[in-house]
Amino acid sequence: MELSPRGAKMGGLSGIRSIMEDIALAASDPSGGTWLNLSPGNPAHIPEVTGTWLRLQQESLAQRFAEASGRYGPSRGSDGLVDAIVRYFNRRYDWDITAQNVLVGAGCQMLAFMATTIFTGPYADGPRRLVLPSVPDYTGYQGLSLDEGGIVGVAPGVELQEGRLFRYTFDLEAVGREPSMGMMLLSSPGNPTGRSIPADALAGLIEIAEERNVPLFLDHAYGDPFPGVAEDSVDPPLHSHVINCFTLSKAGLPGERLGFAIGPQAAIDAMLSFTANSYLHPPQLIQATAEQALNTGVIDTLTSEVIKPYYRRKRQVAEKLLHELLPDTVDWRLHATEGGMFCWLWIDHDWFDDLAMYEALKRKKVFIVPGRHFFVPPFNSLFLAEHATRCVRLSLSPDESVIAEGIRRLAEALEEMRGAH
Ligand code: PLP
Repeated sequence: MELSPRGAKMGGLSGIRSIMEDIALAASDPSGGTWLNLSPGNPAHIPEVTGTWLRLQQESLAQRFAEASGRYGPSRGSDGLVDAIVRYFNRRYDWDITAQNVLVGAGCQMLAFMATTIFTGPYADGPRRLVLPSVPDYTGYQGLSLDEGGIVGVAPGVELQEGRLFRYTFDLEAVGREPSMGMMLLSSPGNPTGRSIPADALAGLIEIAEERNVPLFLDHAYGDPFPGVAEDSVDPPLHSHVINCFTLSKAGLPGERLGFAIGPQAAIDAMLSFTANSYLHPPQLIQATAEQALNTGVIDTLTSEVIKPYYRRKRQVAEKLLHELLPDTVDWRLHATEGGMFCWLWIDHDWFDDLAMYEALKRKKVFIVPGRHFFVPPFNSLFLAEHATRCVRLSLSPDESVIAEGIRRLAEALEEMRGAH
C-alpha cells in the first residue's frame, strides 16, 4: 500500500520514536544485561509521588469507576476536572478564566499536535509553518507537522558563562523575521536545556504573536504549577494570543496521558472539535483522580515538598559528577539552568559527533539522546549545523548510581573517540 505524503511524513522514523524504542529496549532487552538509560523524559520513580497517586487512583476506582469508565464523557474533559482547573488557576494566578478557556486532552504532545494541525499547513495565501523560537527544543515537536518542511527552528544566541557553563539566548529579531508563521511553540522550562524563558523574551514573543495574529503555544510540561522543577519560571501568561499547556506526566503520571490547555476561547473551541473528531475525549478515571489532586491541594504539596527538591538535588549530584569524571582536557560545557530534568552537554571539538557517541555508548549499554534530534534541519547557520552534532542530553530521572556509572562510561567513550582522531 502506498503512503500518502502526509502518511510518509507521519509514518517516518523520528527522534521521539527512537527514544520510545530505547525506553522499550532498556526495559526488556532480549539479549539480557543491564542497560543504563540516561535518555528518557520519563519522570523519576519517587516513592512518595507514586504512593500518593496510587492512593488517589484507588479512591477514584472505588468511588467513581462506573460513572468515569462505564460511559462516554464530554470532549472538553469531565465537568468536575474542568471546574477544578478553572478554580485552581483563577485562585493561583488571579485569572478570570471559565470552562470555555479549558480543554483537557491526552497529554501535552497530543494538545500540541492538535494546535499545530489547526494553525499551520496550507492556507489560501500559502503554507504557514510551526516556528520554534529557540532551538534546541523538545525533540517531540519535530513530528508535530503533517507537512514536509512544516517546522522551522530559529537559531539562538550563545552566552559563555563562568567555568564550564553556557546559556542560549533568544534572537527575537530573527523570530520576527520568520516568513509564513502559523504558530510558535516553546517549552519553558525547556527540554533539553531546563531554561525558563525570561520575562522580557516572553513579552517579545507575545508581541510577535499579536503582530502576526498567530498563537504562541507555551508548553509548561516541566514548569509551574506542577511539577515545578525550575527555580526561576515566569507565571503562565493569560493572553488573547497564548495557549498554555500543562500535563500531569512530569508530576508522576506519564502513562496516564493527561494534560490540559488553557487559552483563548476560539482556539480552545477548535481544539475541542478536533478532540471530538479524532478520539472523542480523554480517559476519564484519571480525570477524576486529577480533580481530587487539584481540589485538595495534594498536587501542590507533592510539587513543593517532594518533586522540586528531588530534581534540585539530582542536578547538583550530576553536575558534581560531570566535573569529577569528564576529562579535564576535553572542552565540554553544560547549559546553565535553574532546574529541569536534564543535563545538556556541549562537547566543542571537531572529532565529536553526537550520533557516533550515541552508538559508542549503546555498545557500553548506556542510552543518551543525540543532540541533533533537538534541532530542526535544514540549518540556516554554519554554527547551528556544527553545534547540533556536538551536544547530548542526559536525563536526571535515573537513580544516582545509574547516573554516576553512565557519566563514567561517557567519560571513557569521550577518551576513546578523541583517541581515534
Ligand atoms: N513537552 C515536553 C517539553 C516534553 O519534554 C514532553 C515529554 O518528554 C512532553 C511535552 C510530552 O508530554 P505529555 O506526556 O503530556 O504528552
